[in-house]
Amino acid sequence: MEDCIFCKIVKNEIPSIKIYEDDKVFAFADINPILEGHTLIIPKNHAADIWEITPEDLTAIHIASKKIASAIQKALNPDGIALLQLNGRGVNQVVMHYHLHLVPHIKGGADLPITNWEIIPGDMEVIQKTAGKIAGCL
Ligand code: AMP
Ligand code: ZN
Repeated sequence: MEDCIFCKIVKNEIPSIKIYEDDKVFAFADINPILEGHTLIIPKNHAADIWEITPEDLTAIHIASKKIASAIQKALNPDGIALLQLNGRGVNQVVMHYHLHLVPHIKGGADLPITNWEIIPGDMEVIQKTAGKIAGCL
């Protein structure tokens, strides 16, 4: 897609700090890292989000995520790695080309707030009704 910044990265029209690539995916360092080692994996084919990406590209992203998470483990020895993926403006997706964030956490380092939500028991009736609604659409 012409005006897509991540398509431009794939085509090497704008620079990136490349970490990995294969025939379907490209991985590079996030230039605004939440924490050290923050990496993005994107499909080479443009797709805006989870609804647009093909099952084949999604599979390739997740196979690559295992490879890259292992490399991050070796390189940085984190005590955890969060995989985050945002879809839609309502959850603050900024770049409208599918991307999976890999964010390692180093022991004793800064916290990753999104992984630390408060556990509040929900209303079981509402939970059941909503789950039924979703299941009914499959
Ligand atoms: P989001 O769409 O909110 O999931 O996040 C978009 C991510 O892309 C942010 O973490 C940005 O820092 C990152 N980003 C935007 N432009 C670039 C770029 N040219 N190179 C590397 N990372 C980028
Ligand atoms: Zn794109």
